[in-house]
Amino acid sequence: MTNIKGSCLCDKVQFEAEDKFQQFHLCHCDQCKKMSGSAHVSNLFIKPDYFNWLAGEELVSRYDVPERSISNAFCQQCGSAVPYLSSSKQWVIVPAGGLNSSPSLKPQDHIFTQEKAEWYQDIDKLKQYPGFPD
Ligand SMILES: [Zn+2]
Ligand SMILES: [Zn+2]
Repeated sequence: MTNIKGSCLCDKVQFEAEDKFQQFHLCHCDQCKKMSGSAHVSNLFIKPDYFNWLAGEELVSRYDVPERSISNAFCQQCGSAVPYLSSSKQWVIVPAGGLNSSPSLKPQDHIFTQEKAEWYQDIDKLKQYPGFPD
């Protein structure tokens, strides 16, 4: 059984999950763009039984988007996205970038592409640099 750990940027909020993620979606909806400040969120879904907080759960704040079943959970100290329990309580939604190692499950799809940022086009064609551009 593999456990994958994760944390926020300041490391005060820490968690772990078994490598039993069941869904992995890249969501481009308007709300996810706002909460991430980016083109999309990258969210893993796991059953609550396989998830544990290790530290800092009391530092987690949460904003539930009215009339949508999505929330923004974040560390009060550093603002990083952190996991949260879905409103249905069926899933813990884990921001993939917060994990310290890679889960077995790979992204399955792009969702809410109708709301995709107009500038987020032909991303794979962009020049790539291992660090800052020359
Ligand atoms: Zn933090
Ligand atoms: Zn979304």
